[in-house]
This record gives sequence, C-alpha cells and structure tokens, in this order.
Amino acid sequence: MEDPSVDILAGVAQRLGASLDLTQTLEQITRVVVDSLGFGVATLNLRISPDDFEVVAITGPDDVRLALLGRLRPQKDWDEALKASQHWGRLRFLDGRDSSSELGHLYWYIPDLPADDDPGSWHPMDALFAPLYGADGALCAVLSVDLPLDGRRPDANDCRLLEHFAIQAALAIDHARLYADLQHAMEEQSRVQRELQHRALHDSLTGLANRELLLDRLDQALARSRRDGRAVAVLFLDLDHFKLVNDSLGHAVGDELLVAVGELLQHHLREVDTAGRLGGDEFVLVLEELTGPAEAIAVAERLLLATRQTVDVAGEALRTSLSIGIAVANSRSTSSELLAEADAALYRAKAAGRGRWEVFDADMRSEALAQLALRSELSEALAAEQFDVFYQPIVRLSDGQVLGYEALLRWQHPVRGLLLPAAFLSILEDGDSDSPVAEWVLERVCADAALWGGTEFVSVNISPRQLARPELARRVASVLERTGLDADRLWVEITEDRPVDARQDIADVLRLRDLGVHVVLDDFGSGYAGLSYLQRLPADVVKIDAGFIAGIVEDAVSRGIVGAVVGLADVLGLSVVAEGVETTRQADVLHTLGVTIGQGFLWGHPEPRPMSVGPLSVPKAQLVDDLPGDLRRLQAALAVATDRRQLAKVSVQACLRSVGADAGSFTVASEDGFAHRLHSVGFDHDLVEPYRVMPLTADLPVCEALRDGQPVWMLQSELLAHPKFGAGRGAEPVFALGCVPAGTGAVSVVWFDTVALEPELKTHLAAMTAIIGERLAQLPR
Ligand code: C2E
Ligand code: CA
Ligand code: CA
Repeated sequence: MEDPSVDILAGVAQRLGASLDLTQTLEQITRVVVDSLGFGVATLNLRISPDDFEVVAITGPDDVRLALLGRLRPQKDWDEALKASQHWGRLRFLDGRDSSSELGHLYWYIPDLPADDDPGSWHPMDALFAPLYGADGALCAVLSVDLPLDGRRPDANDCRLLEHFAIQAALAIDHARLYADLQHAMEEQSRVQRELQHRALHDSLTGLANRELLLDRLDQALARSRRDGRAVAVLFLDLDHFKLVNDSLGHAVGDELLVAVGELLQHHLREVDTAGRLGGDEFVLVLEELTGPAEAIAVAERLLLATRQTVDVAGEALRTSLSIGIAVANSRSTSSELLAEADAALYRAKAAGRGRWEVFDADMRSEALAQLALRSELSEALAAEQFDVFYQPIVRLSDGQVLGYEALLRWQHPVRGLLLPAAFLSILEDGDSDSPVAEWVLERVCADAALWGGTEFVSVNISPRQLARPELARRVASVLERTGLDADRLWVEITEDRPVDARQDIADVLRLRDLGVHVVLDDFGSGYAGLSYLQRLPADVVKIDAGFIAGIVEDAVSRGIVGAVVGLADVLGLSVVAEGVETTRQADVLHTLGVTIGQGFLWGHPEPRPMSVGPLSVPKAQLVDDLPGDLRRLQAALAVATDRRQLAKVSVQACLRSVGADAGSFTVASEDGFAHRLHSVGFDHDLVEPYRVMPLTADLPVCEALRDGQPVWMLQSELLAHPKFGAGRGAEPVFALGCVPAGTGAVSVVWFDTVALEPELKTHLAAMTAIIGERLAQLPR
C-alpha cells in the first residue's frame, strides 16, 4: 500500500517551491500546515536578529492572527520553552496537563477549548513546535501548530509528517533568503557598475558625455553617416568671458553656470545628438542625421539665441553668450580631425567678436596652425623685449589741443613684424602670462610720462581680469611712486565688457580712484552695461565706443545714443571722450552733441613716441582783448590751424556755436538747395563738409543745388538775389561761409537769414567774418 504521506509531502514541496519570494514562502508554510497537515492554526516565528524572533506568518482564525502577528519573542524565551518541552522526534511538545510547567508566561494565546481528562485529546494549553534549522545548523525559525482538526494529540504518523515538512520549510526559507540576498547583491552590484560606467564616460559636473564617450559617439556617427549618407556635424562651443565669471564671481558660480549651460544644450538637442563637455567651458555637440551644414547652423543659431537670455545662477541674473565653431564631416573625416576643425572655427568666431558661429573652411587650418605657433612665441615675447607701447593723442575737440595720450600695446614680432593687440591679446589673456605683460605696460607708460613731464595724461588699458585682482591698486600705487608720476596724470581704462552686475567693479574702481588716478570707462556701449551702469560706476571719464562714432553722421540712432550718454555724463560730472574719430564730419557732429574730447586717426595714429607734446600756442598779437569770450575762443581755435585744411576743422558748426546759434533763428541753405532750420543740435553735417571756410564774396561761384548728383552753379550775388533764399525772402545777407562738400568739389553756402538777427549779433558776425578772413589770408593756399 502506498503511504499517503508521500503524496502529501510531494504536494507540499511543490507549493513551497512555487515562490522564491521570502514573504510569500513564509505565508505558504503556515497555509500548507493548515491545508494539508491537519491543524487549525500554524504560526511561524522567524529569527529576525541574533536575539529576537518575530511572528511573521499565521494561518488560522482571525482572533489568533490579531493576537499574535508581529509579536516579538526573545531567543532566550524560545530556549526556555524548547528546553522545558518533551522531545517528540525533532518536534517539541508542551504538555498542557503538566501542572508543574512554569511556562505560563510564554503563552500568548490559549484557545477556547473544553479541557477534558482524556490523555489522547488536545488540551487548550498543549503546544507543539517544530524548530526549523537552516543549512548552517542554526535555529532560524520555530513553527508552532495548534488546534488539531480531530481534537486529538498528533500520533506518530502526524508527527513524522510535520517533521519532514519542517525540514522542507526550513529549506524553503533558506532558499528564499539566499535568493533575496542574491538579488540584493546583484542590485547594489549592478548599480555600482552602472555608476562606475557612467562616471567613466560622463563629466561629473554637468552629466554630459566626456571626451572619451564623445569621441566614441562621434566615431559611430561617422560610420553610420558613411552608410546612410546623412551628414554629421561637430559644434565646438565656448562660453564667452567665462574666465571673467570665475574670477569675479567665484568658481562655485562658474560651475553653476556650466551646469545651466549643459542643461540648456541638452534641452536643444534631438535624441540622436550628443552633448559633451571637454573640460573648462568647452562643450562639444555631435549632430547626426543632418541633411547638410544649414541644419547645423540652424542649431547654432538657436543656441546663440537661447544663451543670450539671462540665466539665473546663485541668485544672480547672468547674461552669457557662446562662440561656436562648426565642422561638417566629409566621407574621409576622422573624429579627431573634425574636432580640431571645429576648434579652429571656434577660434575664428571668438576673434570675430564672440557671440557668433563660424563654419570651418580650408584656410582656417593654416590660420589655426599659426595661432598655435603664436601662442608659444608669445610666452617668450616679454623676456625677449619684443613688446612696445605706442601713443595716440587724445585732443580737445574745440581746438585740437592734445590733452593726453592713450598707451597701446604693440608686439614687434621678429618674423611677422609689428602686431596689433587684436592679433595676440586674446591669446595672451587666455593664458596666464597676461599679468607680467600688464605690469610691464603700466611701469613703462608711467616711466615714459614722468620723463616727458608736462601736464598731458597717459591712459593705460587694464583688462577686466587685471581689474578683478585685489592687488591692482597697490601695484599702481607702487609704480606711481617708483616712477614719480603724478597720479593725476594717469588714466586707467577699464571696459564694461563683463556679464556681471557692477558691485564688484565698484569696489575695484574705488580702490583705484582713492589713489587719485582717473578711471575711464572704455568702449562704452559695446558691451553689456546700459546707461545705468554710468550712474553706478564711480568713473571719471567715459569713452564712447568707436562703433557709435563710425555711424554718427548717417545714423540718427547713434547720434541719439551719444547725445544721451553726454546728457547723463553731464549730470554725473563725467568727461566724455569719443574714440575712433576719423573725419571732420564726425568731429563736428560730436562737437554739436556736446562731446568735448576726441581721439582718432583724424588727429593722429598711435606712434612709438607722441608727436610734439604741448598745446599749439596762439600768437598773442592776434588776440583781441575786447572780443566777447566766444569770439576769442573762435579766434584761438582758428589760430591753431596751420593750413587751410586744418582751418576747415574749425567747422561751420564751430562758428555757429561761437555766435550762440541756438534757437531756430538761422536758415541754412546748403548744396542740396534745401533750407534747414537750425536747432540746438540738429545741424546737418551730411550736407556741409567744410573743406575750406571763407567769407563769401559776390563773385564766388556757389553751388545752389545738386541735381542728379551734379552741382548747379551760380554766383554768390545771384544766390543772394535768388527768390528762394535771399532777396526773395526779404532777408538781408550779413554773413556766409563757403564750403566744399567732400568729394563733390562743389562750393556750398551757409547763409544766414538776417531777419531775426539782433544788431549785437550782426556786429558779432561781422567780427567773426573778419577773424576768419584774417586767418585765411595768413595761411598758405
Ligand atoms: P581700445 O582701448 O578701444 O583702443 C583704441 C583702439 O582703436 C586702438 O587699437 C587704436 O589704434 C584704434 N584707433 C584709434 N583711433 C582710431 C580710429 O580713428 N579709427 C580706427 N578704426 N581705430 C582707431 P589697437 O591699438 O589695435 O588696440 C586694440 C585694443 O587692444 C584696444 O582697444 C584695447 O582694448 C586693447 N589694448 C591695447 N593695448 C592694451 C594694453 O596695454 N593692455 C590691455 N589690456 N589692452 C590693450
Ligand atoms: Ca582703451
Ligand atoms: Ca576703446
């Protein structure tokens, strides 16, 4: 006959083996006992620590579950209970009828059963335990059973079944635990592995791909592109002025900015693209599946636009910009070539003024090589005494008197000849050798100026990075002392070209001003700061960027801006210098706008040594003492002129100003035949370029108008009788100036409508005519 317990055990084993999950296994153990082994309650006490067991699973009536589940029992209680109980094979039995038992405190639950005297029946205080030993031989759990279904104490057969079951249960727990441990280990393991792998291939700051991963992706992209024919591009990106951010706001802020840019890059990329950081502020993008270069350029444009927005970094609203170099792969490109090409294009973008993209082309290669060479030569240049300083005059607009000189760095390159800062300054400032060079310039310029004597100032350019150095003021002070230069004669030019707020700058500037040095805000209008910067920065002088001067004749916006700067500077007590002045037209407009100091090729190029220093003295004899101040100034101004051309610099406008031509009291007829109402600043120099200034005489041919670009001539006398201008309007001619517009050869006329003139002014104008005539007569033709 077959033993039915074999079947039972086989079924039980199957159920226990059904799951490797520990919780499910524990539940299953007690359920199997109740389902298959003839007990009403099964409780599993699992060792949860070296000292404690916890009731982790119960199958049985709800009240038992409620009473016991989750209860803890210390190891020593189990030791006591197991010791005091009878050995039934591997099971332990506590005899409820044994009144000598002192284990009452161990009972958590006593079923509500009739207790009879039949020794074979189950007593409410009876307890049967199956200790479960793990593979290591240690007690890992205790399974306790209660309420046998037949109400009898288990017989030998029942016990044998339970014993075998206990062995299986212990095994099942062991397995489940092992499995859980294993899984856990595999999880902590693979996470570490993943983490290590990630770290090895990604930049720890931004989380973007590092060089290795990027090159790998690029290699793959190139291989794919050779198969599917679609283009691959590399974008090499560099944050403009990142060193400045680091220097002025600290590395933590710099890091945050890098993170913000990293996020921005990822945001703008497609799934197939890769963004990486090579270190510092160098980012690289690999763009795949492109139709051509245009798409890469479009991405670059988008990025430029996006970075121009302000980024919130550490509570500071930073404005940043990128320079981008683009290289598009051809069928033979290798990844390292492509990177180098994009790098060369990036260099071009930076040199062209930053905040822009450039696509690599063939002759960039040789240029890139040359730059590389320059970089290493530059580190030797100072020691080899190849640097020099040139001086460019800064003059008073009204009379051309030299007030001082700007010192401009030059590199006398042994092979390439004289190099301008544009060719090497950014390389210099990229590295760490800019400090010694800056020091040398300061020392040299101060020594030069001290040697010349006189009152002219010298103006030295200080890079923003130098300005941010706390020891700058101390260094300047010691150079002044060493060279004996009066602090009042030193101007220091700083640029507002940095994307930060002005607080730090103010501290730096104040330290300089405390020395008595004049602080010049250079290139104003070209960088980040608005007009309010003028208000915040305690400077003495503001230099309006040459960009505005270039357009000042044609462009009303430039004029408006310059006018606004002058207006504000006036209120703030700042002097205004216009730089890059190349034509008399520009000088005149500037003068009209109230700018009093100028610098530019019009008055002199930078030279190794300044041209003759000192004001051109006005011959005493020519000064007429009783002339009103304005006329005296005019006379002085005219006296400066040493030829007719120079006399022309004293413009029509200067004359007009000298007579206080303010309101709309004059009418100007110019070569295009229109009458212009003069207002305080609106004299239109487009129309009158004073080449030669002279009083008109009746027989002087003048140009009445330009028709289709051709001058229409008439005599001065005809003009004055002209119905449109002179007699026709009942105006009495008092004074006029003849001018030759540049390029046309035409003589034009500035003619004053005399109707509104005061008698006093008439005298004044007559005097002025005389002064001009006199001076003109003294000058060679
Ligand atoms: P910057 O401070 O704006 O200097 C004026 C630049 O404009 C000079 O160029 C000057 O030669 C040029 N310039 C003057 N008048 C005219 C004009 O009428 N028309 C035109 N088109 N240009 C004119 P340069 O000497 O090539 O210097 C370029 C820049 O290099 C300077 O611009 C300045 O920012 C920087 N730099 C020069 N020397 C030093 C130096 O010693 N240290 C530092 N940190 N920067 C310097
Ligand atoms: Ca300058
Ligand atoms: Ca400048």
